[in-house]
Amino acid sequence: MSYHVNERGYFGTFGGAYIPEMLYPNVEELREKYLVIMSDPKFQEEYQQLLRDYVGRPSPLYFAGRLSKKYGANIFLKREDLNHTGAHKINNTVGQILLAERLGKKRIIAETGAGQHGVATATVCALKGIECVVYMGAVDIERQAPNVARMKMMGATVIPATSGSQTLKDATNEALRDWINNPVDTHYIIGSVVGPHPYPDMVARFQAIISEETKWQLKEKTGKENPDYVMACVGGGSNAIGMFYHFLNDEDVKLIAVEAAGKGVDSGESAATTYLGTEGVLHGSRSIVMQTPDGQVIEPYSISAGLDYPGIGPQHAHLHTSKRALYVSVTDDEALNAGLELTRLEGIIPAIESAHAFAYLDKMKFKGDETVVVCLSGRGDKDLANYMNYFGF
Ligand SMILES: *Cc1c(COP(=O)(O)O)cnc(C)c1O
Repeated sequence: MSYHVNERGYFGTFGGAYIPEMLYPNVEELREKYLVIMSDPKFQEEYQQLLRDYVGRPSPLYFAGRLSKKYGANIFLKREDLNHTGAHKINNTVGQILLAERLGKKRIIAETGAGQHGVATATVCALKGIECVVYMGAVDIERQAPNVARMKMMGATVIPATSGSQTLKDATNEALRDWINNPVDTHYIIGSVVGPHPYPDMVARFQAIISEETKWQLKEKTGKENPDYVMACVGGGSNAIGMFYHFLNDEDVKLIAVEAAGKGVDSGESAATTYLGTEGVLHGSRSIVMQTPDGQVIEPYSISAGLDYPGIGPQHAHLHTSKRALYVSVTDDEALNAGLELTRLEGIIPAIESAHAFAYLDKMKFKGDETVVVCLSGRGDKDLANYMNYFGF
């Protein structure tokens, strides 16, 4: 079984490029050129250099001693929280800005929900002196003032999306409209392993550095490059695919993807896509989507803005239906408590997104000497207000 994209842009029956006719030239240009550009030694040299000197890679693989003792396993944390701008998203935006340069693009657009991808995009545009326009729901602009300030400080223009619920999906629609109107000079940086082919595969390749490093780091620390379990949280699924990528064909490694159950999978306020969703098309690819029987997208809910998404990337849909990876979910309460636990046991405040992956440790049964790698996708500075409200500090 192949877990990778085929030449038609599909992972099993998922993926493809379901786009309006007017976007075809943009997506086709990218499809024709992304692999050629990414395999160019000059591109790789600059990408690796920026990952090292700008992002701060390799990110450490940290043995969490007190957490390990609590759960009776050898638990390692892949420290994406220590990257520049505080999460894994910068791995992808650094890659895509170099690609955009080589495509001769003079202008970057992006969509953002909580603002994390917007910040990572504005950052690399400042680095390269390229114009940056970020679309963001008007409601999200209100809720995420510090990230809006960061983007503006970097020189980006933040445009409010005022249609619909004025959140992420409306921002995505505005960004797509912009791209249709500016096909020649503009590159659209998508922030997760979603969207029409080639985005899911391209973003996965940029995030694959996470598991590439993990393999040699684990070998150095334990003598073996494969752990028993690899775990990550899933919104669209980019940190999880990056964490899984180089283990996909090692069937002895169990892969666990943790979605956001919100207030409970059956509460009506949830983002547990594989549990609640059905096959459908969302944002340009065929995947699993939270939708009504007649195909209306259902509003998702999670306390964590990064996981508050009604779909998953097509590669995840394939890993789920082929049973290569196990998809589970934890609630807001479970995630917040796991976030506090990691803070108290290891002195590390995780992003609430990442805390979802840690919360699932409590539901696992370990024999005692298994090795587990958890992707710590981001730091919790942005979530302090949520933690404080919840715990009443
Ligand atoms: C955006 C974000 C996520 C969710 O996105 P994926 O594409 O599923 O990785 C997870 N963790 C953090 C810290 C994020 O900022």
